[in-house]
Amino acid sequence: MIPRLRPAIGPADIIAAVRAENSVEDFERAFAATMEQAHAVAFPYGRTAQLLLMEALDLSGREIILPAYTCVVVAHAVVLSEAKPVFVDSEAGGFNMDLDQAEAAITENTGAIIATSIHGYPVDLDRLDAIAARHPHVIIIQDCAHSFAAEWKGRPVQKNGRAAIFGLNISKLMTSIFGGMITTDDAELATKLRDLRDHRLEANGGGVFKRAVYLAAATTALAPPVFSIVKRIADLGLIDRFVRYYDETLIDMPADYLVQIGRAEASVGVRQCAEYRNIIDRRRRIAAFYDEALADVCPEGRPPLVDGATYSHYVVRVDDPGDLVKAAAKRGIELGRLIDYCVPDMKAYRELASTQGPFDETRRLNASVVNLPIWVDQRQAERVVKAIRHINEL
Ligand SMILES: *Cc1c(COP(=O)(O)O)cnc(C)c1O
Repeated sequence: MIPRLRPAIGPADIIAAVRAENSVEDFERAFAATMEQAHAVAFPYGRTAQLLLMEALDLSGREIILPAYTCVVVAHAVVLSEAKPVFVDSEAGGFNMDLDQAEAAITENTGAIIATSIHGYPVDLDRLDAIAARHPHVIIIQDCAHSFAAEWKGRPVQKNGRAAIFGLNISKLMTSIFGGMITTDDAELATKLRDLRDHRLEANGGGVFKRAVYLAAATTALAPPVFSIVKRIADLGLIDRFVRYYDETLIDMPADYLVQIGRAEASVGVRQCAEYRNIIDRRRRIAAFYDEALADVCPEGRPPLVDGATYSHYVVRVDDPGDLVKAAAKRGIELGRLIDYCVPDMKAYRELASTQGPFDETRRLNASVVNLPIWVDQRQAERVVKAIRHINEL
């Protein structure tokens, strides 16, 4: 079975993890260079990075504007930094936050806007710049966990705003096994973040071999033939403990969110930085292939091909995503229901929010989006298309 996600990890990455030749500082330098930014500061998770960034920027008690259609952990980090989340609906016809509504949500107490280039579709930097110019008290933070170096009309999204957040776990477009990163061109902020991090995080207690084994095991589990078995086990609910990443009712962090990454992660991260361009090029090629190959099957629901998009996910919109996922699974293709929740509709957030919404566009996305495997090679992409065409003919 072809899984919906798989890291771009080969045997050389696993050897790099075991050898652990690079320091976390090496990884930070390589990452900053890849993102063309002056500073990069490493963390164990993207959410830990965000939490400490919000602390460094003194945002506690302030309102933080963020998309309703995003990974729930971003909202968790807002709440746990003692700031107040203000959710904004998605733009009609797209996936990113509606920037007119974001601007309308700004008050005197707004501390920041978290601008997310979801699925790798670049946020409109021209409109964001105009908002920032009209509201100079509002800090722009880029959430690049899906986009990495996506570009809006040739301008890399991560370079816009005060700082950018990245997540680097194995479900992301590039990975350091575990990890998160902040990039910024602001030297003072970078120093403050390092101090805060060194003060708050526990050192990694070694465990290089354990992390290398995890990486090897995860990569193997996501190889198509092995994955068929893993998937069967997962469908029985036997590994829910490991694969479910949120609970409707809780706003929390993983137990190890304050344990810093070590040399195994750093060494994989350095290699992935060197591979970054190839990873993106392949995703763009596969996205273009899907777009063309599915033109007649899915004339309405295909996302536009956007110059500068990095395709952390290739998503289509269909009427019955659940049915399609089931039918594709029968044909050996795992499709995903990525972000099938609207964060402010979740129990924990309903209890916490003041009057908000409506979130009609986000709910429409929740009820229609399916993500196709985008990590694949051309031959596997052809199998995916064949399966979808077949289902469509039934
Ligand atoms: C994954 C993700 C994050 C945070 O990354 P973690 O490392 O999982 O904490 C932030 N934003 C978005 C949109 C993400 O998908």
